[in-house]
Amino acid sequence: MMERKKTRRVMVGSVPVGGGAPVSIQSMTSVPTEDAAGTIAQIGRLAAAGAEIVRVAVRSLEAAGSLGDIIAASPVPVAADIHFDYRIALAAIRAGVHKVRLNPGNIGGTERVREVVAAARERGVPIRIGVNAGSLDRRRFPHPSPENMVESAMEHVRILEAEGFADIIVSLKSSDVRLTVEANRLFSRTCDYPLHLGLTEAGYGTACIVNSAVAIGTLLMEGIGDTVRVSMTGDPAGELPVARGILEASGERRAAIRMVSCPTCGRTDPDLDLLSLAREIEESLRGRYEDALTSSGRSITVAVMGCEVNGPGEALEADVGVAGGRGGFMLLFSRGERKRRITRGEAAAAVLEEVARILERGE
Ligand code: SF4
Repeated sequence: MMERKKTRRVMVGSVPVGGGAPVSIQSMTSVPTEDAAGTIAQIGRLAAAGAEIVRVAVRSLEAAGSLGDIIAASPVPVAADIHFDYRIALAAIRAGVHKVRLNPGNIGGTERVREVVAAARERGVPIRIGVNAGSLDRRRFPHPSPENMVESAMEHVRILEAEGFADIIVSLKSSDVRLTVEANRLFSRTCDYPLHLGLTEAGYGTACIVNSAVAIGTLLMEGIGDTVRVSMTGDPAGELPVARGILEASGERRAAIRMVSCPTCGRTDPDLDLLSLAREIEESLRGRYEDALTSSGRSITVAVMGCEVNGPGEALEADVGVAGGRGGFMLLFSRGERKRRITRGEAAAAVLEEVARILERGE
């Protein structure tokens, strides 16, 4: 695994960010925060889907008034996203939020910054400075270049540092993959505050998944980034499998269940219906073993391959594998050994039986 860039450790409630901590996954609610019950319900769904920190937009003092109940009921640390109004920041910190996202240059002068910093320091609340390419001050930074994004972030950082406050997380986001990657690389060379990675206005569906994976995955594989958020238009629960998949693909987390399957080609017997077989096996494995494997930190790899030419290689590498043959038969492999010939109809049960054996043996 790539060695991570050494950053400072910042605590977001119980979740460490930076300083060698595992890269955490964040999400954000879409329910108005004034609706405490709705926000609590959504945080519960996001946490169940894998969010380790959840951010809520706090746009009014009324929304800040809901925070006490929200924080008390939340299974994960809660971050408050605040723009411009320092009174909301103070109310959020007093309510017990675990992190505040605000840009100190935008809350109206040194006295107000001092008050917010004093409250944050007293309660051990970190501040995330979030620079988005789309909302740079265009008079001062006419082009959203990596240099301008980093300079804008550093201006906010210096305001906090001038108050002796270093409990800082920074994000540099754009909807453009290359700009986001370059800005984060540059910031990472500039200082050692932990980085929150993500694209902003990343869209939805395939484009969002691909762009987020390239931007976040590229940085993680260079050892840059301490916490991630995939932004996706629509239900934020949809972000979480993508974020998790990016962490797994970039080697930051181990997949509990790893499926390997070939794309099929002219060598595949069409009667094998490989896609249905792979899905059936994956669903059964997730239903039976995913929670136990995740909590024990173990992992199982299963290969579902279409032919006897290239299939056995992958099937032998996996914990358990099947490779298709002709006439409705397949070959079963387990832990690097060819076991036996089975029919297509027996394949899912045979794979599950081998997996159960491996897990029972505690290997
Ligand atoms: S494993 Fe066999 S069936 Fe699958 S894509 Fe490769 S050659 Fe084709």
